[in-house]
Formats: sequence, C-alpha cells, structure tokens
Amino acid sequence: MLLGKVVYIAGLLLQIVIRYPYRRGRKEQKDRQEQLLLLLLTVGGLLLPLIYIFTNWLAFADYQPLLWLTGAGVLVMAAGLWLFWRSHADLGDNWSDTLAIREDHVLVTQGAYRRIRHPMYSASWLIMIAQALLLANWIAGFGGIVAFGVMYFLRVPKEEQMMQERFGEQYRRYMATTGRVIPKYPVR
Ligand code: SAH
Repeated sequence: MLLGKVVYIAGLLLQIVIRYPYRRGRKEQKDRQEQLLLLLLTVGGLLLPLIYIFTNWLAFADYQPLLWLTGAGVLVMAAGLWLFWRSHADLGDNWSDTLAIREDHVLVTQGAYRRIRHPMYSASWLIMIAQALLLANWIAGFGGIVAFGVMYFLRVPKEEQMMQERFGEQYRRYMATTGRVIPKYPVR
C-alpha cells in the first residue's frame, strides 16, 4: 500500500530531522557489541524497508495490506515521533547514540523522563511497531522489531548499570518511581 510506504519514509525523515541538532560534534568510541547492535538496527530498521520500498527483491514475502492496519500504523508512528521528539528535547546534551557518560552529565528525571526511564527506547518500540503495521511484508515489516528487540534487551541492563555506577542512590531512587519503557504511576 502506497500510503504505508509514504508514511514510513516521512517518519524516517522526521527522525533524522529531530535527531540532527543533537548529533553535531558527537563521535563516541563504540565497543564491538555496540557496533554490531547498531549495524543490526540499520539493517532491520532501515535497509530492509528501503529495499522493500524501492526494489521488488522482497516481493516473495509480501502479504495483502489491510487499510485498518495501515491506519493504525499512521497513529502509532505519530505517537512514536512525538515521544522521540520530546525525549530528545528533555535529554538534551546528555544524549549519545551509544552508552556514554559525559563529564558534565546530569540525571534527567523530568518531562518525558518523569515516569519512564527510557522514553527514547519507548519511542523506538512505537516506531518499530509502526514499521510492521505500515509495510505489508513479513521481512521488511518485522525486521525493525527483531533488530531493536535484540538491541533493547542487551543494552538496557548495561545502561542502567552504568547509570547506577555514576549516579548511585539518586538513580536507584529514580528507578523505584519509574517504569523502563511503560509509564509507572505511583500507587496511592
Ligand atoms: N535510554 C534513554 C536514553 C537513550 S540515549 C532513553 O531511552 O530515553 C543513551 C544515553 O543516555 C546513555 O549513554 C546514558 O548516558 C544517557 N541516559 C540514559 N538515561 C538518562 C537519564 N535519565 N538522564 C541522563 N542521561 C541518561
């Protein structure tokens, strides 16, 4: 369905635009695992969809698109982009595309970070789910969820370990009042 492809490409361009101001001047060293995870994410979340959209090489894995699934994909993509934008704005200079602590790092606990510890990863989950809903192809559609899933489950424990080493009790208290990717509301 053309609508799904167009919305997927628009979403891709908006992610680049949202992230661009935070990228400038950032060139962190990445360890082997991080390099492989970012490569996997590029294949599943970008390369396979582009191959599907611009060639017929993946046509064998096409299925019949359904308008209501595509429509749901548009809404999920919009929600994901909104959260992607808000979490970049709130994380500001503390953002990096790999795991890194800056000298002047501050722990952000407000805005998108108030009830979720990893709102940018929540946004990525939404965008990957949108990819699956928008692209009517088993390989290009689900490539993003598989690649991001591997990355998420390998990276988040390391990231939280790193944050605890840097921020200690402050991060542990923050963990108690937030959910990883789903908002946590305190029980009264
Ligand atoms: N996991 C976060 C941030 C992704 S960017 C999210 O999904 O929103 C990755 C970098 O963000 C990591 O190198 C880490 O140093 C930093 N980071 C993660 N959580 C943070 C927080 N609450 N405050 C400040 N920096 C944070």
